[in-house]
Amino acid sequence: MKPASRRRASASLLALLGLLVQAQLWGCAREPEDVKESRFLMGTLVTFTISGAPREAALAAIRDAAGEMRRIERAFTIYGDAPNAVKAFNAAAPGAPVPLPDEVSRLLQTALAIARRSDGAFSPALGAPDRLWGFSLPEPPSAPPDMARLRALMRGAKWTNIVHAARSWKRLHPAAQLDFGGIAKGYAIDRAIAVLKRHGIANAIVDAGGDMRIIGNRHGRPWRIGLRHPRRKQATLGWFEAEGDVAIVTSGDYERYFIWHGRRYHHILDPATGLPARRSMSATVVARNATLADGWSTALFVLGEQGLPLVRSLGMQAVLVDAAGHLHRTPDALAPFHPSPEPHS
Ligand code: ADP
Ligand code: MG
Repeated sequence: MKPASRRRASASLLALLGLLVQAQLWGCAREPEDVKESRFLMGTLVTFTISGAPREAALAAIRDAAGEMRRIERAFTIYGDAPNAVKAFNAAAPGAPVPLPDEVSRLLQTALAIARRSDGAFSPALGAPDRLWGFSLPEPPSAPPDMARLRALMRGAKWTNIVHAARSWKRLHPAAQLDFGGIAKGYAIDRAIAVLKRHGIANAIVDAGGDMRIIGNRHGRPWRIGLRHPRRKQATLGWFEAEGDVAIVTSGDYERYFIWHGRRYHHILDPATGLPARRSMSATVVARNATLADGWSTALFVLGEQGLPLVRSLGMQAVLVDAAGHLHRTPDALAPFHPSPEPHS
């Protein structure tokens, strides 16, 4: 290269660098606004919040993530008229081998592992009693079902009656029917996060009615998360800060319930009895993904305070409000946790 053209080249290189620096400064000064969008999915309001991405890119990512959640809802629900593999399995003759799609088979394996580790506090085989109670039906119940019928169903509605056999699955009793209600929402949140990541989104929250997974941060600062109070609407138990990749899922007795003869009946059943579990008002689990956090929050709700050491031994954190309204936490859970002041009324 001649000296003159070399000079020209370095001048244009300098100009380019200048442009880049300017673009950087421009980027800092005009950080894109957070994009927040809600959709009704999986029986709840799902809010997607995306930080630090251009609006158009964020909206396209949310559209795909919401579509993925809708697909999962259809694939796993046991309600409504549209056929799916889970409903077909529940209708198959007891003892007959039924192949399940890989995705269903994998989530079932995860669900059964949680059932085993929680000594049956979590059970994906409660489809029949769940339908009998009817909390997920379009017309929710206002009184308990016939107790003799419930007891009869509970003799067969056991997770040990769902077995894997040569690339297929069998149910060993007519009352053993799958229900992914305790884990499918968490799985859908994980899949939604995977879609957002594929779109290049690095900072986001997918919040499905208080069950959420968080990636990245908000303009370099942690996200601030409130935990809902199980008895006081609009109030929080407290708040904490979270960033990185973490899931926080709560099971509570306040989402779907009725009061009958002064007693609360809700949708989380104790698999030992088929009756609403009585040891907790809410159970929150913090785990590396929402599938585990969802399954274990349901298990911990059933186990109550005594389940905290188990959850901790599996590397998760938890916050539990017991039946008397007292707060318990695994050491360092959601630390630093900032409890809300108790009202004096
Ligand atoms: P939510 O779906 O309200 O966030 P959960 O994750 O605790 O709450 O799931 C409750 C749902 O899970 C019920 O509606 C029912 O479909 C199912 N279910 C109820 N009891 C259990 C249980 N002990 N183990 C697993 N699933 C359960
Ligand atoms: Mg759950």
